[in-house]
Amino acid sequence: MINQVALVGGTHGNELTGIYLLHKYRQYPKLIGNNNFELELFLANEKALKANKRYLDRDLNRSFKLTDLSDDSLFGHENELAKDINQKLGPKGGSRTDMIIDLHTSTAPMGINLVLTKTDTFHLMLADFVQQRMDNVSITLEKMPDHHFLMSVAPQHVLVEIGATAQGQLRQDVFDKTEETVQLIFKFLNLYNNHQLPQPSESIDIYQYFDVMFLPTDLNGDIAGMVHHGVQDRDFSLLKNGEPIFTLFNGDEVIYDGEDCYISFINEAAYYDDKKAFAMSRKKTFHIG
Ligand SMILES: [Zn+2]
Repeated sequence: MINQVALVGGTHGNELTGIYLLHKYRQYPKLIGNNNFELELFLANEKALKANKRYLDRDLNRSFKLTDLSDDSLFGHENELAKDINQKLGPKGGSRTDMIIDLHTSTAPMGINLVLTKTDTFHLMLADFVQQRMDNVSITLEKMPDHHFLMSVAPQHVLVEIGATAQGQLRQDVFDKTEETVQLIFKFLNLYNNHQLPQPSESIDIYQYFDVMFLPTDLNGDIAGMVHHGVQDRDFSLLKNGEPIFTLFNGDEVIYDGEDCYISFINEAAYYDDKKAFAMSRKKTFHIG
């Protein structure tokens, strides 16, 4: 039974879509609908929102490892905020919240991307339920021991990542898709609690992250080129060994030398902090149930 659900926005302060969906639901709670679980609307990083920044000191969505949550030597806004959120929604490992839905946006045209950290039947059925009812839904898996995501505070969780939209921008198409996805997740949870879920698909294809590609840099560490136009906007397409991936300022092309893989978050604006160019995944088929 899923009793306590938190709908989280503003884990990244400049991703306005989730933040304003919370705002809308606070103003017009009837639009949330009738649910057989308790729903908490939770704005994660208000200070980052006010500053129109992803974060102030550290990416909040990388700050929820148990080792970091119990480390008193870590300072800065997000480290303290993570501990505070863990007290309010969690604590991780013995959480009072059963399920967290964490709302994000991407500057890459990824459509609707659901990020899972687990592939148990509940999470596979949830992803399948949404994918069967909306267009352009992809599922990614980011598995790691002691996860750093905010949503890992609760045992059940899904990250909803929708794009493309700029940072600090509200777009109706992205907003509507986010709300539709959230409503489908609510519907799934209601059916789950009532033991009325329809038969799921036999299997589901999931993109599993295995690496990240960094932008080319010079000896000073400055960016030395940009994502190749042939790769731009190709989220969740297959990148083949031998394809050009960067164009350097000197005109040279950098050729991809590695295993064929699916690429996403291509030229994501938020990735420039770490000079990342795109994420790399393998497509795997998971049997459901
Ligand atoms: Zn985000």
